[in-house]
Amino acid sequence: MADEQATQEETVREIRINPIVPTQSVLVTTARGMRPKQAEWAAPRDTRKHVDTCPFCTGNEHMTPPEIATYPSRANWKIRIVENLYPVLGDDRQNPNFSFGLQQTIDGYGRHEVIIDHNHHGIGLHEMSVEHLAMLFGAYRDRVVDLYRTDERLRYVLVFKNFGPAAGGSIPHTHSQVIAMPVVPDNVQAEMDASQRFFDKNHRCIFCSLIDEALTFEATIYDRESGQVRRKLDVGQYVIERGERFIAIKPFASRYEWEIHILPLHHQADYRAVTAEDLTDLGRVLKRTMSRLEAVLGGVQYNYFLHSLPPSNAVDDGQESFHWHLEICPRTSIPTGFELGAGLFVNTISPEDAAAQLRNVILDE
Ligand SMILES: [Zn+2]
Ligand SMILES: [Zn+2]
Ligand SMILES: [Zn+2]
Repeated sequence: MADEQATQEETVREIRINPIVPTQSVLVTTARGMRPKQAEWAAPRDTRKHVDTCPFCTGNEHMTPPEIATYPSRANWKIRIVENLYPVLGDDRQNPNFSFGLQQTIDGYGRHEVIIDHNHHGIGLHEMSVEHLAMLFGAYRDRVVDLYRTDERLRYVLVFKNFGPAAGGSIPHTHSQVIAMPVVPDNVQAEMDASQRFFDKNHRCIFCSLIDEALTFEATIYDRESGQVRRKLDVGQYVIERGERFIAIKPFASRYEWEIHILPLHHQADYRAVTAEDLTDLGRVLKRTMSRLEAVLGGVQYNYFLHSLPPSNAVDDGQESFHWHLEICPRTSIPTGFELGAGLFVNTISPEDAAAQLRNVILDE
């Protein structure tokens, strides 16, 4: 096994095309020279349970901006949603769009909310109960539903989480954010457009196809010249976790070393359609996935975000071609000048090796 891994480390040096959005690609290279960016700079996360001065801790509710919702109840909240004190988009802007020559702006209109994920200050996702995670992702759904319903100018509601200083988490108390904006972000639009093109050609959802492939694919790739086995793709090679309704997959063209995507096994375009049963299984798959990441990385710091089909005027626009998903991007390195300059992500661990390491973790439950 060690030998096999060493051999593979020597050989992986390729540009992988993102199967969903072919204009995005990743340089997968295990070359040592690409690896100086492993971080001493990442400060450890705050793991305390309660901090007297923290505005998000129980007892300090008066220190936050106005409250939007609480779960399961106001008196005994475990999840609390408030307005963001420093919104990146505000709902008080009346200025028309500004345009001058090639320089244009879009009105910074929108909404920005903070979801206090748990009443315990520094709790990790892997330490939360399945029930709590189901409640959290239910709270996300409620906010997305409510924002689209109450403001038709909103084109996209992005739910995301920055956990730990390495992931840009500015407040140590565990929290997520909701930013509702007047435009569909470029990367989501690119996924929508590309998956629609795939659907027009193949009459299938590309995400469903990728899930099927992950669950059934078995292939051997031979070197054209020597006839030697270049790579073996095994059944389940990219599968990290599989629940009854959800699957966690290591993307073939992972931008981040430990990137994992979680998707519903059955086709579902719009996150707003998730049911209570879905949420429980999602909570279970997410908890197990985060436990694996924690076991391999120790003190994992990450960003995650939900990509879902936004409402559209057209009746079934994207309903068949798009498939909502949660992208989890652990931050173990910072982008280098090469990555920024070339617009190419560099991943220094082969996704197959990373997936094997994550799968090999033995979980208690
Ligand atoms: Zn706190
Ligand atoms: Zn699908
Ligand atoms: Zn996505």
